[in-house]
Amino acid sequence: MTIMQIKIEDELLKKETISHENLGFGRYFTNRMFSQRYTENKKWHCPKISDLKPLELPPHIQVFHSGQNVFEGIKAYYSKNGDINIFRLSDHLERFNRSAQRLAMPEIPIERHKKAICKLVETERDWIPKKTGCALYIRPVMIGVEPTLEVRAAKDFLHFIILSPVGPYFGEPLSPVSVWISDDQVRAIKGGTGTAKTAANYAGSIFASEKARANSYDQVLWLDGIERRYIEELSGMNIMFVTERQELITPLLNGSILEGITRASIIELAPKIGLSVREEKIDVYQMIAEISSKKIIEAFAIGTGATIAPVGRFGFKGRDTLVNGGSAGPIAKLLYKNLTDIQHGRAKDFSGWLTTI
Ligand SMILES: *Cc1c(COP(=O)(O)O)cnc(C)c1O
Repeated sequence: MTIMQIKIEDELLKKETISHENLGFGRYFTNRMFSQRYTENKKWHCPKISDLKPLELPPHIQVFHSGQNVFEGIKAYYSKNGDINIFRLSDHLERFNRSAQRLAMPEIPIERHKKAICKLVETERDWIPKKTGCALYIRPVMIGVEPTLEVRAAKDFLHFIILSPVGPYFGEPLSPVSVWISDDQVRAIKGGTGTAKTAANYAGSIFASEKARANSYDQVLWLDGIERRYIEELSGMNIMFVTERQELITPLLNGSILEGITRASIIELAPKIGLSVREEKIDVYQMIAEISSKKIIEAFAIGTGATIAPVGRFGFKGRDTLVNGGSAGPIAKLLYKNLTDIQHGRAKDFSGWLTTI
């Protein structure tokens, strides 16, 4: 049975050439995109790959007013034997559907979504940067496009996928980041939309992120919405700590933390390098005290964008605390190596994480 026939519109632009030396993150996009529409009657239809071009949408569609939006962030890696490895594709697409469900949006059948991504990546394969630390970032998005100002679910949706060749999120792989811990605003609460990848969560985080940036911090770390005491995550990454007793500790998923796929992957890799893993509530005051007393020896943020970003400095209630002297620690480096070796096809894919094209 064929999953779907994707129409390829052949009005291709000239190939833009870009330097792979300084890609940044989400700065460049490939020439083509995938899109399809959904209506109640026809379900998903009109799948096509066309030039990346402006969307022509009326100003009164649902997403602009009530915000039905979900997305994913996935990476395809170049492998030295010439294969393209997409990391944990099914897991991302299942999460996309869980996000869609939370936002009262239609799901996309996994095989259909997979085919769309694989076909687009294959078409744009020349854009995949080859260096370690670089990848092709895949961004699927779904939005409500029915014209209405009523606060309700749209009946029509647009799904599109764009691709961006990216370098390391924070400039260099493993360059330490500084993190400001917000004690007034919150990102998400249990029962809200924190576990869904939906734009509203990020919109609500920007005020604090800008304030952090103005005070020379790279990122914001969010606490729980009720007691403002337990560590949750960053705006787009989960967080982990390493103790002197070689334990890896990360906040327990609690209904407001986004279930990161990098988080799950590191939890699976950590025992292989001799770490014991604990998922638990982490008290921010205790965490700061244990960094100061060197019981906690490393901290790092993890997510598809940056893979692993060591935290060199936390700012909390007006005071700074350095972690590992402000530099990347050995565990972060080793986990980064082990994970990127699998992604780039240099180590065995023991868990079946890769979709190879
Ligand atoms: C995407 C995201 C993460 C990381 O998830 P990955 O699957 O590892 O990329 C963590 N927290 C938030 C809020 C996110 O949006």
